[in-house]
Amino acid sequence: MITAEQLHQLAESHGTPLFVIDHDELRNNYATFKKYLPRVQAYYAVKANPDPAIVKTLFDAGASFDVASLPEFMVVYDIIKDLPEQERQQWIWDKIIYANPIKADETLQELDRYKPLVTFDNREEISKIKEFAPHSGLALRLRVPNTGAMVELSSKFGAGPGEAVDLILEAEREGLTVEGLSFHVGSQTTNFENFVQAINLAAMIFREARERGYDKMFLLDIGGGFPAPYDPSVKPFSELAKRINAELDRLFPPEIEILAEPGRFMVATAGTAVSKIIGKAVRDGKLCYYIDDGVYHTFSGIIFDHCQYHMESFKEGPTQICTVFGPTCDALDVISMAEELPYNLERGDLLYSRNIGAYSGASSTWFNGFPPAKVVHVNR
Ligand SMILES: *Cc1c(COP(=O)(O)O)cnc(C)c1O
Repeated sequence: MITAEQLHQLAESHGTPLFVIDHDELRNNYATFKKYLPRVQAYYAVKANPDPAIVKTLFDAGASFDVASLPEFMVVYDIIKDLPEQERQQWIWDKIIYANPIKADETLQELDRYKPLVTFDNREEISKIKEFAPHSGLALRLRVPNTGAMVELSSKFGAGPGEAVDLILEAEREGLTVEGLSFHVGSQTTNFENFVQAINLAAMIFREARERGYDKMFLLDIGGGFPAPYDPSVKPFSELAKRINAELDRLFPPEIEILAEPGRFMVATAGTAVSKIIGKAVRDGKLCYYIDDGVYHTFSGIIFDHCQYHMESFKEGPTQICTVFGPTCDALDVISMAEELPYNLERGDLLYSRNIGAYSGASSTWFNGFPPAKVVHVNR
């Protein structure tokens, strides 16, 4: 782990706001995932942090990728495009799944030449894929319970269990091939039961499809949702992996390929924000620090990801509960109403926030004229 001292030095040489990405941590997270889920190929969900340097490090470590837009697809394709034609086609499926169930006509048209693997979850999408990207392989996205996930996704995507096999057979009638199933249990899922239920549901659909004469499915994509250790109440990954492995081995024979799409798990702990105190005030008796990064920038996850980050001070001193505000003129730009920080910090002092690598800087804006934090890569 990158030390506080290293962070301080980086901020002194690069200035603030600074977003530090630790590539050793990326490799560690990938290795942990592989160690505990040896049967599962990790397709890193690029939306969690699309920095091409992150994609490259995970690629070199052995990861594959889940993309959801053409620009994300190209970030990965850029790495494999120089391979010989023959190998490249194999790599596209081995390395990329286009996991956005809803795709614009134009996007499908662009994607078709790569013969991609794409997800879908409804009839309309079957007609679109048939018309605009008939060379795709398909994976049906199932709707599964998202109980207790920090970010819920089941209201937006997924075919219900009652319609799943009908959709698979309909795709077949249209001349397309459904290669397997996918699901997402909701992001930052600390309720491990979600994974167990979803894998069981997928096994049921595999069985029903076979009973109804469809036997071309060879892959199961167990999606994302693997929790990052934001706080000590998150149970260890090894425990979740044990439950998943038990269900996979019980329900899916070894010839079924198992994929997953971890986003947050790979990058959350690899990112740290370092910010500078630019103002200090007491409002209604409460000490307020104003810093040079906020919810329109690296702390965007507070709004979009329903995530709370903790601030730490490099300086020690007696503490009290403070408010921390971002730099813009919007009252929404609040990082925390209750951070325990030394009350003797001064203008120019630095604060840092760990575990902020996922769903954070990627959504930075230029609101109010404040640019996104500078990104610096360490241990690359
Ligand atoms: C966002 C997303 C992921 C990544 O989810 P995490 O909770 O970050 O692991 C994976 N798959 C799909 C389809 C997604 O939309």
